Amino acid sequence: MSATNFLDFSSLLRNAHLTEWIQNHKKVIGFYCSSIPEEIIHAAGMLPYRIRATNNLNYNLADSLLSQFNCSYVKSTLNLIMEDKYNFLNGIVIANTCDHVRRMYDIYKHKLNKNSQNPIALFFLSLPHLFDENGWLWVREELKLFQEQLSRNLNIEIDERKIQETNHLYKRNQELIRKIMEFRILPEPKLNGVDFLKISIANSSVRKEYANEKLEQLIMYYQQDEGPKIENVRARLMLLGSSIDNPAFIQILEHHGAIVVSDLLCTSERWGLKDPLWHYDNWNSEDPYYPIIQRIYGDCFCPRIMNGHSLRMNLIKQRIKEAKIDGIILQRLEFCDLHGCENMLIQQEMEEINGTPILSIDREYLLGDTGRLRTRVEAFLERLERS
Ligand code: SF4
Repeated sequence: MSATNFLDFSSLLRNAHLTEWIQNHKKVIGFYCSSIPEEIIHAAGMLPYRIRATNNLNYNLADSLLSQFNCSYVKSTLNLIMEDKYNFLNGIVIANTCDHVRRMYDIYKHKLNKNSQNPIALFFLSLPHLFDENGWLWVREELKLFQEQLSRNLNIEIDERKIQETNHLYKRNQELIRKIMEFRILPEPKLNGVDFLKISIANSSVRKEYANEKLEQLIMYYQQDEGPKIENVRARLMLLGSSIDNPAFIQILEHHGAIVVSDLLCTSERWGLKDPLWHYDNWNSEDPYYPIIQRIYGDCFCPRIMNGHSLRMNLIKQRIKEAKIDGIILQRLEFCDLHGCENMLIQQEMEEINGTPILSIDREYLLGDTGRLRTRVEAFLERLERS
């Protein structure tokens, strides 16, 4: 298999690695957000799989359980679940990250599991919405509870040594993703935003031993300049806002000669943050939970952390400099309140105070009116070229 075949894992829910895993009677646990302690699932010998809406075509089934005013990304995932496309999951873990995702727990508990011959194991994590010492200790308690529930419900032993080993594997995975991120921000980037998203999606759909092997091969591939040449770049863009798991959306943004060199999306670059976003001073290096708390809580770039806005702004400004950004595309899924509020603040600060040009887009998960979007992007690029 060539290095770039790994990118194709983003176009299917069932990739070759997952299929083999299931054939070997091993378990898969689904999750929605970056704030889920995948490391504990991995240490328990299971495959943590980030749920996405890949290839969903409509909301016909999901419309019976979610309203017109719900996030269309979550609704698309529900549609796929109701079409039985996620029948490979043995369990799912959900947190109070946003109300739409939170709702999926109730839907599973009161509807899907009740009507199913094979109900899946359900786990819930309650996570804080502020950065502070209490929040850190709260997350630690939740991790312990989650580990106990996982062991009890699925009859699996998880020892501390396994968690330490998994932490090393995950740290290595983040380092590898960061190396690939560096190829994006070169004066002549070696990969575009579409391919980076595909890599990120594939990375969240396999066990990390497998992912690390594939990422190492990809790094060699880019080092040896084997990728397609990216020439005549009209503008270097940063993409911010709601979750994106569909590379076709970024393809539209890059269609006119722009390139997305940085994105800070939860499905993409947030995985490889270089420096801690927020840090707890009384760090206990012996505690196997601490690196996990740092990743899912201290490095949580999501606007659900209410007192984290200035930290997020600092990181955006730092990435603008590092990646030599010409303009920002802020996008929001309809009814995504978290990114709705955050985007408004970013627009005001970055455009009015920092002078960085911004294009703001509201969208649905299913790509409908792409012609209008293309026209808006083209007009934005012309504006960037004039400035
Ligand atoms: S895009 Fe917004 S509303 Fe949808 S799941 Fe993410 S945070 Fe929640």
